[in-house]
Amino acid sequence: MTTYKNLIAGEWIESSSGETFENHNPATGELLGHFPSATIADTQRAIAAAKEAQKGWANTPPPARAVILDKASKIIDRRGDEFARALTSEEGKTFAEARGEVNRARDIFSYAAGEGWRMGGQTLPSNIPGELLYTRREPLGVVALVTPWNFPVAIPAWKMAPALIYGNTVVFKPASLSPHIGLLLVEALVEAGIPPGVLNFVTGSGRSVGNTLVGSADVDGVSFTGSYSVGMGIYEQAMKNLTRVQLEMGGKNPTVVLKDAEISQAVALTVAGGFGVTGQACTATSRVIVEDAVADAFAAALTDAARNLRVGHGLESGVQMGPAVDAGQLETDLDYIDIAQKEGAKLLAGGSRTGDGGYFIQPTVFDGVDVSMRIAQEEVFGPVIGIIRARNFDDALEKANAIEFGLSATVVTNNLQQAFQFANRIDAGVVKINQSSSGLALQAPFGGFKHSSANTFKEQGPAAIEFYTRTKTVYVGHG
Ligand code: NAP
Ligand code: MG
Repeated sequence: MTTYKNLIAGEWIESSSGETFENHNPATGELLGHFPSATIADTQRAIAAAKEAQKGWANTPPPARAVILDKASKIIDRRGDEFARALTSEEGKTFAEARGEVNRARDIFSYAAGEGWRMGGQTLPSNIPGELLYTRREPLGVVALVTPWNFPVAIPAWKMAPALIYGNTVVFKPASLSPHIGLLLVEALVEAGIPPGVLNFVTGSGRSVGNTLVGSADVDGVSFTGSYSVGMGIYEQAMKNLTRVQLEMGGKNPTVVLKDAEISQAVALTVAGGFGVTGQACTATSRVIVEDAVADAFAAALTDAARNLRVGHGLESGVQMGPAVDAGQLETDLDYIDIAQKEGAKLLAGGSRTGDGGYFIQPTVFDGVDVSMRIAQEEVFGPVIGIIRARNFDDALEKANAIEFGLSATVVTNNLQQAFQFANRIDAGVVKINQSSSGLALQAPFGGFKHSSANTFKEQGPAAIEFYTRTKTVYVGHG
């Protein structure tokens, strides 16, 4: 049984308390390894190491930083199957899903490496003769990355790669339910030649490690992805030091099916969005808002599809949906199924635990869901879909917006006018037309509206530079 270590100032070390926590496989219950429970003092050492390394890294020419990121991308590619197996083993998603996520991490590093050759400031026209007016992009400094368990390599990658290419040093705290793939990612950067202290990896609880990072005056930026409740606490705490904060949080994403939609396409997109990665995606479809005219046909077809999905161990071939990530998440899923039934929603498919051993749950579909029900308002984070019926397009749009979250939203239609109306009028940071609510392009800005985000900075693509740099304006009199 392996006991893994943390990376601080270029050295792989244990927790100074000697304490560890366990990592388990949610499909089998198998113990996979032990990770250090870093202390407050360990976390402070990691912050100090990042601070010490920051000037040197900032002064390394961006194309030289790019060489390291490009190498990391190639190492992730070379070790792709190994990474994906580790991800499936600790988080539960299917091997195909894990392989896709690892490829995403590889591509993010490749994209960020290109940024090293492109990034620059602006030259502006001056209103004074003999003056040069320009801006410089400088790194923020030390950034803390606090990430969730559900995309435990893609999300750290889409924070870490821009952080590093723009010259920041990093303390990365992975989620405690899936720390191994985070460690493998850090290993790839080390093998690629990242200098000591530039990237630090600290495992342990949100309460000790996370809290210390967020409350530190030596941390210049916190990029957090996770739940709304934890995010709110982070915002309040980081504000005290005027630390720059980016929060991406929960979702309750609608797929809207209009009456002209092809039912088979609408069902396929709903299954991909709602049951893909076991419904454990921030962009997962958890509400399907269907125009009355096609609601019966859609409900019947979705019920069939849900019943036919193969649930099981993500490393077994043919398995289409893995387990819930742990006992707590499974219990949450089952609690919400109970609540939905008590609120009067009608169970069409699933609703129970399944399989033996692991935290498996059936793909679940409810009909007769009303927007006021908790099942229509609160994030479950499991494979539970509620069908909400709508009288017409406007009613569907109103129901789609009747929620505190605003991450992703989809419409299924061939009606060009209504598709664009939807894109214009929906309150969500990501809009899809005839596509699944989940799935993102790494080269495009990503972030939610309303309670899905702090609404400060977008992540990914060309938008990432805004969070990970600060702008300096320089006036040069040369006349
Ligand atoms: P979480 O419980 O909020 O945890 C997220 C991270 O915060 C973990 O690393 C966690 O550490 C840490 N943390 C916990 N308490 C903390 C504290 N007091 N101070 C600082 N850090 C703390 O979320 P999760 O259960 O891992 O992930 C599921 C949630 O993430 C869902 O709500 C989902 O919608 C959201 N999500 C959003 C996006 C997006 O881009 N919008 C993407 C994916 C997921 P521990 O693991 O040690 O507790
Ligand atoms: Mg685990």
